[in-house]
Amino acid sequence: MNAFWHVAVALLCCGALSLVFPVALSPQLAAVILLGALAPDIDHAKSKIFRIVVGSLAFCAAALAYLTLPEQSRILGAIIAAIAVILFVLLLKPRHRGVTHSLLALLVFSAVVFALTRSQPLAIYGGAAFLSHLIADAELKLA
Ligand SMILES: [Zn+2]
Repeated sequence: MNAFWHVAVALLCCGALSLVFPVALSPQLAAVILLGALAPDIDHAKSKIFRIVVGSLAFCAAALAYLTLPEQSRILGAIIAAIAVILFVLLLKPRHRGVTHSLLALLVFSAVVFALTRSQPLAIYGGAAFLSHLIADAELKLA
């Protein structure tokens, strides 16, 4: 299932959840649902969320290298930093539909959302979106 359909399923599930646990629409809610719907596929090198996260990390590493290195080695250092980050992530990336497609990951995701937002409804809706991804992929492992 691709990102579009995971988001569509998450919106459907969260819409159903809103019938029993209403919550006000907000940009934060939309972001949490979007992240929850896509986060499990962070273990897939061709997924949108993987590319966004790894691209952002590589950009930050390149920018940091560019801003901190001496002028004569800035560009080469930035390129090496970006490539190093990409290789590092690719080497450490878990297998697809492994731990990121588990109920443990769902609990961690919801806990992180709660820790960052201090909002129980956002954590619940993020968890529901995450769960919808696991159900849509037919992957319901404990860990
Ligand atoms: Zn998936």
